[in-house]
Amino acid sequence: MAGGLTPAPAGGAGKPVGPAGGSRAKAPTRARKPAAKRRRKAPDPVQAWARRLARTRPNLVPDVLHGLASIYGHPAWIRRLGPTSELILTILTQNSADTNAERAFESMRAAFPSTEPAESHEAGHGWGGLGLPAGAPPDWLAVEEAPLAELVEAIRPGGLAQQKAPRIQAALRLIRAERGDHSLEFLGEMPALEARDWLTRIDGVGRKTASVLLMFSFGLPLMPVDRHVERVGWRVGLIPPKANADQAHEIYLALLEPDQMYEAHVNLITHGRQICHARNPECGRCPLAPRCRYLDRKAP
Ligand code: SF4
Repeated sequence: MAGGLTPAPAGGAGKPVGPAGGSRAKAPTRARKPAAKRRRKAPDPVQAWARRLARTRPNLVPDVLHGLASIYGHPAWIRRLGPTSELILTILTQNSADTNAERAFESMRAAFPSTEPAESHEAGHGWGGLGLPAGAPPDWLAVEEAPLAELVEAIRPGGLAQQKAPRIQAALRLIRAERGDHSLEFLGEMPALEARDWLTRIDGVGRKTASVLLMFSFGLPLMPVDRHVERVGWRVGLIPPKANADQAHEIYLALLEPDQMYEAHVNLITHGRQICHARNPECGRCPLAPRCRYLDRKAP
């Protein structure tokens, strides 16, 4: 009778039952609670949303992907920077334009030069900057150990340098404390969600930053949700309007197949930048218009 679903004998399964009337101790009982009081597992809101969308708006996801691909094509994954550079560059983009983050990264390369192999970062693929020319990454140990004012000065062109410099040093310190050096290449061998969890323990690294790094450095199936991905998803109705950014991440993971995530991320960002602007979206030339709830609250 393995399985444990059979009601236990009075007195508790596996416990000796005392002589009748010989003990004041009350034998434990397993009276069933009334049905109303039994605990029900709360439904997972992310899965519930995905099921509801499939039921009420069939084929929405493939229609959106197809519509976006009709104008932006099928971008193929290419590695940009190494993962540590990707992490620091992504921290530099937080609340700053990609072009400013590029300037700050270039300035770090100049202020803390290394002899590591060159890496480069092409424009396109959802990146809003001009791209970084080939060059060695900064000397991460020198960045970590630099006087704070020196690092602040180096990344000043990116904006919010006073906030980002200590964040960058803390991230580098944690990586080296745990791994012995600053390499994050080990993350590419981990399951995607475990790798994301490892990164989000770093102060200032949320799901978006972690997902960007893991997607662009390793091609792991995650879905970074920036303001463009969030806005287009909300307008079309892929994600509910009240979903916060973390919930939006999980909803996209539930809606998309792993091999759809890179293309979906890149094309949604491109769409948010080129057509579905925050103000005055150009709906007249949008392939998603027939299914967009921003245009028609009853769109199929
Ligand atoms: S129809 Fe308009 S609001 Fe909807 S996705 Fe296209 S551009 Fe954005």
